[in-house]
Amino acid sequence: MIYFLFLIMAWVALGLVAYPLWRPQRRIVAEPSLGLRDSMKSQQDATYFALTELQFDYELGNLSPQDHQELEEKYRAKAISILKELDAPNQGAALDKEVEEAIKEIRLTRGKGVAGASFCSKCGTRLQRGDRFCSNCGSPVRSGQ
Ligand SMILES: [Zn+2]
Repeated sequence: MIYFLFLIMAWVALGLVAYPLWRPQRRIVAEPSLGLRDSMKSQQDATYFALTELQFDYELGNLSPQDHQELEEKYRAKAISILKELDAPNQGAALDKEVEEAIKEIRLTRGKGVAGASFCSKCGTRLQRGDRFCSNCGSPVRSGQ
C-alpha cells in the first residue's frame, strides 16, 4: 500500500516536471489553426468589402444589373464557403442567412450614402428626416443618421 502511494507521488512529481516541457509543444501545435482562422477572417472581411464596392459601383451606374447580380452571386458563394470553414458545425441555411444579412446591411449602408436617406439600424425601415424613433420598431434613431 505504501509502495502504491509512493508510485502515485512519483507520477505526480514526474507530471509536474514534465508539464513545462510539454506545454510549449502544445502551443506550437495550436498556433497554425489560430493563424488559419485569422486568415479566413480577413478573407471574409475582404469578401464583404468587395460586396460593398460592388454595390457602390452598381449604384453609380458602372455595372449593369446582370453584371451586378453575377458578381454578387460569386462573392456570396465565396462568403458562404469561408463561413463554412470558420464554423464547420453550423452549416447550411444558417450561413446563407448570415451572408444574406451582411449583404442587406451593405445595401442599407450604401443606400444611405448615395440617396441621402437614413434607415433604422435595427429593422432597416426607411426613416423620415427628423425622425427620432423608428416608425416600425420604435428604436431610437442615433444622431447623425
Ligand atoms: Zn426599426
